Amino acid sequence: MLGAGPAGLVLANLLCAAGVECVVVERRGREHVQQRARAGFLSPRSVALLREHGLDQGLARVGREHDRCEFRSAAGRLDLCYRELGSGGVHTVYPQQLLVTDLIAELERRGGQILFDTTVLAVGDLDSARPWARLRAADGREQRCSARYIAGCDGARGIARTALPVAPAVRDHAITWLALLARAPSTSDSVIYGVHAAGFAGQMPRSPDITRYYLQCDPGIDVRDWDEQRIWHELDERLQAERYGAPPRGPIIERSLVRLRSEILDPIQYGRLFLVGDAATSISPSAAKGANLAIVEAGILAPALGAAVHTGDETELRHYSQRCLPLIRQAQEFSHWMIELLHPPAPNDPEAEYQRVLRRARLHSLTTSAHHRHHFAESYVGL
Ligand SMILES: Cc1cc2nc3c(=O)[nH]c(=O)nc-3n(C[C@H](O)[C@H](O)[C@H](O)COP(=O)(O)OP(=O)(O)OC[C@H]3O[C@@H](n4cnc5c(N)ncnc54)[C@H](O)[C@@H]3O)c2cc1C
Repeated sequence: MLGAGPAGLVLANLLCAAGVECVVVERRGREHVQQRARAGFLSPRSVALLREHGLDQGLARVGREHDRCEFRSAAGRLDLCYRELGSGGVHTVYPQQLLVTDLIAELERRGGQILFDTTVLAVGDLDSARPWARLRAADGREQRCSARYIAGCDGARGIARTALPVAPAVRDHAITWLALLARAPSTSDSVIYGVHAAGFAGQMPRSPDITRYYLQCDPGIDVRDWDEQRIWHELDERLQAERYGAPPRGPIIERSLVRLRSEILDPIQYGRLFLVGDAATSISPSAAKGANLAIVEAGILAPALGAAVHTGDETELRHYSQRCLPLIRQAQEFSHWMIELLHPPAPNDPEAEYQRVLRRARLHSLTTSAHHRHHFAESYVGL
């Protein structure tokens, strides 16, 4: 198994519990993987899967249910309680690095093996009975390992996806976010989306004393150009602090750039290689779908691999792509809709005015149509 992110670790835990021997190969060190802050919102389906397989101790203890989001625009404030809409589902806020830490501990408790600081350089013979992976350890030594099946859980820039003989359908949204973590209390119960002419701003709770913020920025900026004063000024402006109160402040403890890019592969398997999570589809974080897709796909692949290993029956494995792709397409479609709603057109876009009109129409429809709000809620928490 390539990669110790949510996809690889959930899959490995499920396989271990089913008595399927597997090894996870991870190019980064344990500490790095356990501290990498990314996602925070788990869907009801992800939570149910983690609970069913005994992987929810941490999130059951400190995860917080979350059921509101708010859009702030020139037209005013639209507050949506999605527990009361759609199928009544809610998110559970639980930072990805805590989930990854839990999954590593549980996998090791179950006797699973993780090779940290080990990079997969290539995979091959995927359509044979013994596909292989070439690994390089931290000391530079290389070795070739073979297995009955390989799961590519190595993320959007991993090597597994490059072994598939298909090119992805790609959309580069030409949008960049400055992703920030602030040591600031999550005072609002809502995720707040600032729909502003100067660019998108987002405020999302992560833990009682950590808040994630996003600011749309010019591509190719140096994150050091954005000092704290500028960050808080832009957040105040785009989240309309004067009207609705200032976002909670605190030292910025992490900043990085996220380029919004979407990729869909079809199929997501080839021979004995199966892609899971961001390796199978890279999706923008605009609708919080990536980690959830990773968990749900791992939940689909694990029993199929278990059946193939224990009984030799590969029927379920053959249908892996077909089962995952409808979920992937639905998540991509909704994320795309969110991207178009949240971001103003580029200033030099000749169709900018047309896009502004569409943005207003989308918000108006959400504000005035109960049907639309129900549909939004289903798509927002669902998979
Ligand atoms: C700022 C930000 C916020 C986000 N917020 C959300 C959210 O709220 N909700 C949500 O659902 N999603 C969110 N996402 C997306 C989510 O984090 C990803 O979709 C998720 O991490 C995917 O999990 P994965 O296991 O597929 O891939 P990853 O987490 O990327 O894990 C892949 C692993 O493979 C390893 N690897 C790569 N190449 C190799 C190699 N050659 N050899 C060995 N190992 C390798 C990597 O080091 C990594 O550990 C967010 C992402 C970002 C960047």
